[in-house]
Amino acid sequence: TENKYLEFQNEKESNAKSYPRHFPLAIEKAEGMMITDVEGNVFYDCLCGAGTLAIGHNHPVVIQAIEDVLKQQTPLHTLDLATPLKIEFMQEIFSILPKELRDSTKIQFCGPTGADGVEAAIKLVKNATKGKSILAFQGGYHGSTQATMSMSGNLSKKQHLQSLLPDVHFLPFPYEYRCPFGIGEGKTAKISAQYIENLLDDCESGIASPCGMIFETVQGEGGAIPADIEWLKEMRRVTAERGIPLIIDEVQTGIGRTGEMFSFEHAGIVPDVIVCSKAIGGGLPMSIIIYKEELDQWNPGAHIGTFRGNQLGMATGLATLKYMKENDVLENVNVRSKQVFERLNELQEKYEEIGDVRGRGLMIGVEIVNPKGRKDRLGHYPQYEELALKIQERCFHNGLIIEVGGRYSAVMRFLPPLTMTENETAEVLTIFEKSVVEAIQ
Ligand code: PMP
Repeated sequence: TENKYLEFQNEKESNAKSYPRHFPLAIEKAEGMMITDVEGNVFYDCLCGAGTLAIGHNHPVVIQAIEDVLKQQTPLHTLDLATPLKIEFMQEIFSILPKELRDSTKIQFCGPTGADGVEAAIKLVKNATKGKSILAFQGGYHGSTQATMSMSGNLSKKQHLQSLLPDVHFLPFPYEYRCPFGIGEGKTAKISAQYIENLLDDCESGIASPCGMIFETVQGEGGAIPADIEWLKEMRRVTAERGIPLIIDEVQTGIGRTGEMFSFEHAGIVPDVIVCSKAIGGGLPMSIIIYKEELDQWNPGAHIGTFRGNQLGMATGLATLKYMKENDVLENVNVRSKQVFERLNELQEKYEEIGDVRGRGLMIGVEIVNPKGRKDRLGHYPQYEELALKIQERCFHNGLIIEVGGRYSAVMRFLPPLTMTENETAEVLTIFEKSVVEAIQ
């Protein structure tokens, strides 16, 4: 599909461009789960702005919210000055927090991207604890800036960068399918916690005074890898016992993606710092961190930045949160999740190339493996990047936009809108199976 837009983009946009490598289309319009390109081709969108569009493209309540802001002559840009809209948005955010956090936390608006939120979170805990080292996890992803990349445990993205943050200590994430401890199946929690406690007790390791621990409860870019619930509880226990602030990066998992408003709620734990971006802005750029009041030890005005008052983003974020509450979107996430898992589990039985099916809520991954390769210690075939890319290419051809991710680029990642219907789900999975069959032929 050559067209003038793609020709121009291919010629003039930097090699750093990401998604256009796999999805050669120029988008004309979008609604709900559907995207139409300039040539009139229609696609199911299982990428949804990398998880940003919780209630799909151009939802009427989001469009209405933008129109209202414009009609009311609300300024588009206010730095971080108060507006009635900003205060209503903040109140709405407090209302979706678990009870234990509602009265004991503060909100801080950060720059527009998820990385801005993570950067602010790290500065916050460094300032409050005076510690300097950071505990992060293999396979984690926290952004593309120097500091957030330093904490992302994926070598391929940072191979040629020489001066990343020092003092980041990577710990093994409970990737059960290819378990770093060689056991898997939910048994890693205690061993993993013991391992981390030993490291912290051992001053020789140099991580005696960390400023914080950061992780995603379901690694997104790392390949839709859900951390075992027991593991999450253990990490909360270890950090609480040692006074290490726990930062949960909810940039991708937050705002209903996993079937709870915040993903840590599945484990019944509360972190010290929550990083939100993507869906919190209802489709427009926004990041915020929410944290325990005692961490708010900033000097007045200590963390600044021009773009922290995106009024349109607050309006669309507010409209999205209200819509989700009023229409019980979380219930839909859980019902659709079950539908997706049932079908994917059937496909896993049918095709050897589907090694693992995993995730939480509507953050689901399918790890593609090579049945001709050598099995690992746990009896699993190796990751198969070439085939994953071929399945992705066939999906695109058949009208489905789906991302490939994971540390070894072999995981098909389902990130549909949380409002996806039963029929849409069935259709997406039919296209997916057809594409798998075509790719393995
Ligand atoms: N944290 C997580 C968990 C993410 O998934 C992402 C983006 N994929 C980020 C941080 C960074 O967000 P941004 O790309 O907006 O900087």
